[in-house]
Amino acid sequence: MVIGDLLRLWDKRESVHILSHYLMQTRGYVYAHADEPVARKVEELFRRAITLRKEGYPLQYILGTWDFYTIELRVQEGVLIPRKETELLVDTALRYAHEQGWIAPTVLDVGFGTGAIALAMQKHLPAAHVTGTDISRCALQIAKENARHLGLERVRFLEGDLFSSVEGEGFDIILSNPPYLSQKDRERMQKELSFEPEMALFAGPEGLDIYRRLIPQAYGHLHETGLLLLEIGETQAEEVCRLLREAGFSCVCVQKDLAGHDRMITAKKGGEPC
Ligand code: GLN
Repeated sequence: MVIGDLLRLWDKRESVHILSHYLMQTRGYVYAHADEPVARKVEELFRRAITLRKEGYPLQYILGTWDFYTIELRVQEGVLIPRKETELLVDTALRYAHEQGWIAPTVLDVGFGTGAIALAMQKHLPAAHVTGTDISRCALQIAKENARHLGLERVRFLEGDLFSSVEGEGFDIILSNPPYLSQKDRERMQKELSFEPEMALFAGPEGLDIYRRLIPQAYGHLHETGLLLLEIGETQAEEVCRLLREAGFSCVCVQKDLAGHDRMITAKKGGEPC
């Protein structure tokens, strides 16, 4: 079999991605070498991968690595796969830090999963004091492995529910991509999602249960000039804005993702109008 034959067996873009992974070549190389014979072992791995894909098993878990905001993360069953949309939080937080002239802010990622947000923040703000919390032991293990692998061991990953492991600490930037899927989302759920940890996806009937606990606690842990950044589901902006104002936040601002859906809310504690 040659590369071109294998690429016809499944969605082309994904097939190129999978083959480039097993061949340890760039995707461009795979596209440009359709006539190149493929070793038996690689063909076997490729066929195994597409069998899993046909069952809806996530591509990211098959590959075992995934890119997020300039870093490559290890991902495996038991942790949420980092999404492209979540890069909006990192991008906005970094921009805010630069605007404020902060070189070494204190940063907290609540519910770190693979460590994506915390590690990307640390990479781009090398002097920052970055902490992450997550209730999942499995996430803790993977995030620490990612930190080691990326040479970003400076990030402090702690196990615990929301803010329970950072009692009494204040932060300049608090980011979170908490579970926010609703019961309705569960019913409409794509097959892929069923392989990801429930705990990282779902949050009660309307998907708001975690925000209800997280938002008031975030208020107590954010410095006066700090910024809170929350990822939200596309129908949740109004309700989450209300929870933020109720908790005392001001400058509450909704931002859309690249697909044009409401995806993030930023909020401050007070001071100047936005
Ligand atoms: N954004 C994810 C999705 O739509 C959900 C992850 C989350 O709940 N934070 O699949």
